[in-house]
Amino acid sequence: MDRFELVRASFEKKAVAAENPAMKTSDYFGELVFDRAKMHKYLDAETLAAILKCIDEGGALDRKTADGVAKGMKAWAIEHHVTHVTHWFQPLTDGTAEKHDSLIDYDGKGGVIEKFDGKMLAQQEPDASSFPNGGIRATFEARGYTAWDPTSPVFIQDDTLCIPTVFVSYTGEALDYKTPLKRALKAVSDAAVPICQLFDKKVSKVYSYLGWEQEYFLVDEALYAARPDLMITGRTLMGHNSSKNQQLDDHYFGAIPSRVASFMRDLEVSAHKLGIPVKTRHNEVAPNQFELAPIFGETNLANDQNQIVMNLMNMLARKHGFVVLFHEKPFDGINGSGKHNNWSLGTDTGVGLFSPGKDPKSNLQFVTFFVNTLAAVQKHNALLKASIASATNAHRLGANEAPPAIVSAFLGKTMTDVLHKLLEVPSDTPIEIAGKKGKSLGLVEIPEIFLDNTDRNRTSPFAFTGNRFEFRAVGSYANCAGAMTTLNAAVAEQLREFKAALDAELASGKKLEIAIMDTLKPIIKSIIDVVCFDGNGYSDEWQVEAKKRGLDVETSVPEMIKEFTTPDAMKLFTSTGVYTEKELEARNEVKWETYSKKIQIESRVMVRMATNHIIPAVLEYKAKLLKEVALNKEIFGSTEGCEVELEIIGKINRFAAEIQEKATAMREARKKANVLESEYDKAVAYHEIAEDLAALRRPIDKLEEIVDNKMWPLPKYRELLFIS
Ligand code: ADP
Ligand code: MG
Repeated sequence: MDRFELVRASFEKKAVAAENPAMKTSDYFGELVFDRAKMHKYLDAETLAAILKCIDEGGALDRKTADGVAKGMKAWAIEHHVTHVTHWFQPLTDGTAEKHDSLIDYDGKGGVIEKFDGKMLAQQEPDASSFPNGGIRATFEARGYTAWDPTSPVFIQDDTLCIPTVFVSYTGEALDYKTPLKRALKAVSDAAVPICQLFDKKVSKVYSYLGWEQEYFLVDEALYAARPDLMITGRTLMGHNSSKNQQLDDHYFGAIPSRVASFMRDLEVSAHKLGIPVKTRHNEVAPNQFELAPIFGETNLANDQNQIVMNLMNMLARKHGFVVLFHEKPFDGINGSGKHNNWSLGTDTGVGLFSPGKDPKSNLQFVTFFVNTLAAVQKHNALLKASIASATNAHRLGANEAPPAIVSAFLGKTMTDVLHKLLEVPSDTPIEIAGKKGKSLGLVEIPEIFLDNTDRNRTSPFAFTGNRFEFRAVGSYANCAGAMTTLNAAVAEQLREFKAALDAELASGKKLEIAIMDTLKPIIKSIIDVVCFDGNGYSDEWQVEAKKRGLDVETSVPEMIKEFTTPDAMKLFTSTGVYTEKELEARNEVKWETYSKKIQIESRVMVRMATNHIIPAVLEYKAKLLKEVALNKEIFGSTEGCEVELEIIGKINRFAAEIQEKATAMREARKKANVLESEYDKAVAYHEIAEDLAALRRPIDKLEEIVDNKMWPLPKYRELLFIS
């Protein structure tokens, strides 16, 4: 099929009917998850008590309990026609990994039986030498193991029982995203509980919550297949802007096309069956861009659910003739995709620690957590940026869409005023609820609910939105755990330091409220004019100003990655027990290596497309023009009247020569980069190549503008971007 047939066919595609269970959502919600309700139904009393204790209080799973749970799980799974089982884990690659084993075993009588026991549930040894590990396991020592994380419920996908697991080496080092995340969640709870107990003795655990918003693009799968760059790198490496893209803002919250709506419906039903509380769906700013968000949940579980949803999206999109693009910047010149991470902390007594309270005391607790979070973000602003840095997200960083390549925090006017006021008033001034006592000078007031914080400065990478912070810098492709591990660890460290300082104040005999304010004041002073910034994060002035304030303004990803092994970062992660030094060093190796490989692949694809697609098409057009000119000369004796042809030929010559020259230089640069020994040096070299990709693209996009539309070999932006 030529390009035009492909495009026409994509427009003629009709929506595939979505699955529409003739039931209320609540009737099938969680149907495919072995959740607490299933545990009550399928487990004996002793096993039930043991596993719930394990989930709620942590601690190891003993073999007897594992066997008991496996027995109940097997009965449930077989009712759902399950035939296979897999340990499902999150290695340091994009996406998740699975190795499916059949449930059958010989029965000793010449037949087979379904077998699933505690051993299969609790632990497996995937041959894991080919997962990235940064040298922690030499490749001949292939053994790493996966172990069930009982806080993540087991679920069924198609015919397979999926067991969420951690993935660690035999010497105990984390090889995945989940293990450090769980450590960070424990660290933040351990650090927050003693502070919460100053306000309420009953608090015994603090939960970290995550509500992710997943942005993505959909493209027609046939058009996608005609674009080698999209297929192999997830983004278009070339392509001239469409005459119309997002400038009219007509896509945002517009009507969802029926083909897309049908895909979304299927996705929602599947997610709900897996207990994932998907709630909102809408068009995003760019054409063909959409967003999906669930109701927030406990961070470890919410992150698993994000990974599951991404898998589901990949699978279901195909059914509807689409491909999902999670790449942060699949198309040049229009918005990219992020994954906003709405984050908060809450106690096991049901109090949200970033929500103002009902009285001055609970307001003081809110302010305490609010200020300490900002202090953590300030201290580790460079590290937080590093936690979201990747070869793909680099296209969003600093490209006039959240996030700028500077991590600052948006507070909103109310909280900015409150912080300023707190610095002015005596430390025993209560923080009242606005309006309760009428307006009076000298009072510090907080509204019960922040109505105005819907204002949302969209240019801020870390914004307070009324009862939570929204970390917007996370990439759409990323595993949220990278960002969530760093954020929770940073806050844990800050809370510990705060508590130590507070204890010193209390030891001098001060009243609690006064001691807290006296401890908070110097912190407020140190952050209010540094990390707190409500202005335009995209402006050039902010670049200058942020640097003056001492915030990190680095834009090169390989440099950002270095932040993980600075003395401050080492101290943060080792003191909170989140990463060992060895793990940090190994992970940096993996990050640099991944960075280089991604750019290497892009560069190869780009050069090949330039050579095999663009140049031949362009020369064909040039030959056609030359023939016309020759014909003209033959008939009329001169090239008079061929000015247009000659001008185009001249341009083609120039741009084609530029492509040729840049492509050759890029191949040479790759050769040099490839022989570098250290992963860091290699990544730095590839960073330069990444910048050259944009330069090589320019003459190609110029040619797209002048070459005969019929002869252009790739689907164009206007064809990829408008789903009918
Ligand atoms: P918007 O696009 O306006 O930012 P959405 O409704 O799309 O808002 O997404 C907001 C996300 O924040 C949802 O996932 C929601 O559940 C989550 N959220 C709300 N309150 C909290 C909270 N206290 N902690 C964490 N996440 C929260
Ligand atoms: Mg949001």
